[in-house]
Amino acid sequence: MQCAHEEFLDWHGYGMSAMEMSHRTDKFMSMAIRMEQDFRQLLAIPDNYKLLFLQGGATSQFAMVPLNLLAGRKTADYIRTGIWSDKATEEAQRFCTVNVVTRLNRRNNHIVIPPPETWSLNKNAAYVYYTDNETVNGVQFNTIPDVGEIPLVSDMTSSLLSAPVDISRYGVIFASAQKNIGLSGLVVVIVRDDLIGHAPESIPSLYDYKVHVDNHSMFNTPATYSWYMSALVLQWVKKQGGLQYMEEASLLRSGKLYQFIDSSGFYNNSVAAEFRSRVNVPFTLAADAFNEQFIREASEHGLLALKGHRSVGGMRASMYNSMPAEAVDSLIAFMKSFEQRNV
Ligand SMILES: *Cc1c(COP(=O)(O)O)cnc(C)c1O
Repeated sequence: MQCAHEEFLDWHGYGMSAMEMSHRTDKFMSMAIRMEQDFRQLLAIPDNYKLLFLQGGATSQFAMVPLNLLAGRKTADYIRTGIWSDKATEEAQRFCTVNVVTRLNRRNNHIVIPPPETWSLNKNAAYVYYTDNETVNGVQFNTIPDVGEIPLVSDMTSSLLSAPVDISRYGVIFASAQKNIGLSGLVVVIVRDDLIGHAPESIPSLYDYKVHVDNHSMFNTPATYSWYMSALVLQWVKKQGGLQYMEEASLLRSGKLYQFIDSSGFYNNSVAAEFRSRVNVPFTLAADAFNEQFIREASEHGLLALKGHRSVGGMRASMYNSMPAEAVDSLIAFMKSFEQRNV
């Protein structure tokens, strides 16, 4: 942010910001190349994968995935673990029959992802889809689902760049930029070579992965300032120590908060320990009647955006890469004092 601020009126002596610069200039092109290199290096993306920077956010991929991957097949498998996989399922139903592999369940009053032995995978499915980290529900996979030879697709919007990933296990990975990568509107798509070029000709060019691959994500004018911001974020992630460091930091932040919640009789998180998100921690208070007061007092302490998603209620602490460890300490200190004042 500091860097973007300093460069806002004059980017490297050009007398203008990256926002005003054409994507055809050498300066912009070299930045784009470096951004791709950084991304590939951070995630150790194998050579048989293409990396795309598109518009329309993760939501655009809810349609692009079926449009590009069905390739004549009629069904796709969806693992439904929360709000975002539900939305993706709804969109896919416009294009194919969706087979629901599994859904969230409860065990001893805790939310769980049912074990793989109970899943109903369809061997004719064009792909298997899941959401690595369900941002709203605070549910995260702790392993990569084993789906055999069928291409695996993952929405990693709220988890990409928060830990190393074995890209080779996937057919497609995508992530909206606004959680860990930069500005909203941009979506990063990592797609394996053999899955490119199978979209029917009847679909809009803008929805065809091959068109974007052939045009290096510049089929339409790229969101130049968003690219610039992502390039800065990637530099920052590298400087911090890469994805290993990001993973340790996220485990530390979320671990502290869960530990506090579990030790308190006032706050509750109902996700079973092994499926808890390392990024988004939803929690409820002893009674909903406290919610409004909690939000108000928290914001007076500079603790913002704690209100849970309207679909699940309660509170949610989202702790993306940019969140310093001290912010969690402040949150916990505030939660402690709120509890003491209200029991
Ligand atoms: C935020 C989010 C989205 C939505 O992204 P848009 O940019 O609004 O399309 C999709 N999936 C997950 C997991 C998210 O966290």
